[in-house]
Formats: sequence, C-alpha cells, structure tokens
Amino acid sequence: MHDFVRRNGRLYCEGVDLEKAVSEFGTPLFVYSRNTLTGHFLKLKDAFREIDPLICYSVKANSNLAILKTLVQEGAGLDIVSGGELFRALKSGCPPEKIVYASVGKTDREIEEAVAGKILFFNVESEPEMERIGLIARKYGRRVKIALRINPDVEAKTHKFITTGKITNKFGIDLDNAARIIRLRAKYRSLDICGLHMHIGSQITEGEPFLAAINKVAGFARSLSADADIRYLNIGGGLGIIYDRENPQTALAFSRKVLPVLKKSGFKIIMEPGRFICGNAGILVSRVIYVKRTPLKKFIIVDAGMNDLIRPALYGAFHRIEPLKSMRGGLERADVVGPICESGDFLAKDRELPRFKQGDCLAVMSAGAYGFSMSSNYNSRPRAAEIMVRGNHAVLIRRREDYADLVRNEIVV
Ligand SMILES: *Cc1c(COP(=O)(O)O)cnc(C)c1O
Repeated sequence: MHDFVRRNGRLYCEGVDLEKAVSEFGTPLFVYSRNTLTGHFLKLKDAFREIDPLICYSVKANSNLAILKTLVQEGAGLDIVSGGELFRALKSGCPPEKIVYASVGKTDREIEEAVAGKILFFNVESEPEMERIGLIARKYGRRVKIALRINPDVEAKTHKFITTGKITNKFGIDLDNAARIIRLRAKYRSLDICGLHMHIGSQITEGEPFLAAINKVAGFARSLSADADIRYLNIGGGLGIIYDRENPQTALAFSRKVLPVLKKSGFKIIMEPGRFICGNAGILVSRVIYVKRTPLKKFIIVDAGMNDLIRPALYGAFHRIEPLKSMRGGLERADVVGPICESGDFLAKDRELPRFKQGDCLAVMSAGAYGFSMSSNYNSRPRAAEIMVRGNHAVLIRRREDYADLVRNEIVV
C-alpha cells in the first residue's frame, strides 16, 4: 500500500518521524516516500511481466525531477504533454526512445523540440496536428513515428472533469476518421503511423471501462488492412487509487482482466500510469494557524490552501486528514480550510476530526499526484517545499519558494 505509518501514535514516512521533518523543513510540505513510489511502479511492471510493456510514467501527475529520475532509474519511460515536460523528461535522464507525447495543442516549437529530441512517438490528437508534424518532420529530413489517439467513446465512470474518452471530449480522433487517416497514410510520407493510443480518463477504479475501450481499439486494429503496419498499442493511464473507501482494482486484477486481449493483439504494449504510481506516495503536511468557531461551524484554518492542493476545490476530491501525533479528546465536526480569499479554498469539508489546536500539524493524505504539479502562486503564496524520504533520511527535492521568487519575472515600468 504505502509507507506512511503510525508508530507509537506518531506518523512516519518510512523511517522518518514527520514532526521532525517538519521542524527541519517547515510547512506546508510535500513528503514523498521513495519506497512507495518505486513499489507501485514495480507492482504494475510485475503484473504485466508476461508482455513486458513499456511503462511511461505520466509526468504531469508529479513532475519533480527527483521523482522522474527515481522512476527512470527503475526502467520507466515517460509520458509528456508539453515542451516543458519534454525538457524535464530529458533532464531527468530518460532515454528519448522511451518518451511518448500527447496533447491536443502541440505548438510548432514543441513539435520541433520533440522531433529534434528523437522521442519514441507523438500521440496525435487531430489531422491538423498530423499535418504540422508531417511538415516539421520533412524540414528535419526525418520520418517521424506517430500513434493515433483514438477516442473510443466509452464511459470511464469517473468525475466528468477527468473523463477523456467520450466523443464530446476534446481528446483523440473518432474511429471513422482514424480509419480514413490510415487509409490515406501514403499522403503523409514523412510520418510512420505505427501505433494506436487511448486514454479514457483518470481515477478509474474498475477494469470494465478499460476492457471496453481496449476491445474497441483492438477490434479497430483488426479491421485495418494488414499493410497498415501498426506495431504499438498504448492503453494510456487512469488507474484509480484509494483516497477514501474506494476499492480500486489492484495491478494484478487489472492485468488479469486485460492481459488476454493485449496478448492476442500482438502489439508492443505501452501504458501511461500517473496517479497509480505517485498518488499514495505523497502527502501534504500543514500546520494549524487558527481554530475558528462561527455560530454554525468550526473551521480549522491551516497554512496550506487551494494553491498548494487544488483537487478538493476543482473536483470536490476527498483527501483523508490525519494528525501527525495521535490526539485524545474525541472527534468533532469541522472544515479544514486554507488562508486564501475564496470560499472554494478548502481541503476537507464537514469531517469528524481530532480536536486540532493552533500549532498542531496535520497530514493531507494521498497528495502525491496532481498536488504540487497543479499548485500555483495564487494570493502571492510562495509554493511549498518538497522532500523525498528514503529509509531513515529525508532530502529536500524542491526548496520552498520565497518572496523574491514571486516577482522574479516581473518588470516594473
Ligand atoms: C494525464 C494522462 C495520463 C495519466 O493519467 P493518470 O490518471 O494519472 O494515470 C496518461 N496519459 C495521458 C495522455 C494523460 O493525459
């Protein structure tokens, strides 16, 4: 599961007492367990070892260089969605032939950088994009590999903001158009249409939507003429994790469900898990600034806000709240809120929580994915520090921003 465990009433990350980490690094603080991070990667790799897929960790879930490097050293490839992520991916030491690139809005500059960087392939989301990549490939005198991102029009059974495989979503190419493009492939001489890609959404807890989509895409592949020369099937990411009482498929259950059809397809399989790998490998530690009672409610006001972790505000997402030191005195209903001037600035709503006092620290659990990577400087708040724990040692992997960082690129005229 994960390496955030309670010993003698105190919360630890692996061998590190989090109260001690906080006294050294301050709050708000993202804490990652290296063991959990690599453990989840290896669990997935192991569950699919029969077909030895290329597992491209989805950089946007948590793009800290130390996290990327850790996974790359374990053999991961990377799934990127921007030029900035390509920059990070290469900087982390990822071999370019293990990088795949999706996004509906790749710019010329981004395409050029990825062509020059010799990534494995682009996951192409539209015909105009294909044409741009074709032109740029010609300019570089190269034949560039692409996979068509198929929009299989399946229900992912997750939050509507993180559903990406419905035909009303902006992502991918519908089956009819994909078939037409593949028929016309001779037109794109600088492109090698070598794969099919899908990514139907995020935090999907059941195997069924994946299977439905894979069946659709694999069926589509079978309908193509043999000389279409498709070699890769990229099944995307989206595996759900436990935030609260979810009961998501394990890596093993997932592989049991989809392995037969993947094996039968004969394609080299690629996966792009993000949340599954880092979601429960990280927490956000925050300190209570005030406890405020109004006629109707109790608010625990902490020093982390929606700028640090936007998932509750954005998706109504649930994160467990845990004290760093177990507390007596029973539970009381409260909201955990940040200091930001928005009513949407909450981390937890109407929860039965320990009676936190001013100065106490609490952990917002399962904050490793889409936590820091979605953070901002809203309200001119310097972004949090990040540390990685390995055994009994914690190391800083991103220093806390200071006020000077806030205005670094601003020009007074
Ligand atoms: C975001 C994204 C992923 C990763 O999604 P998770 O739900 O974090 O596993 C994979 N592939 C693509 C194309 C994405 O956009």
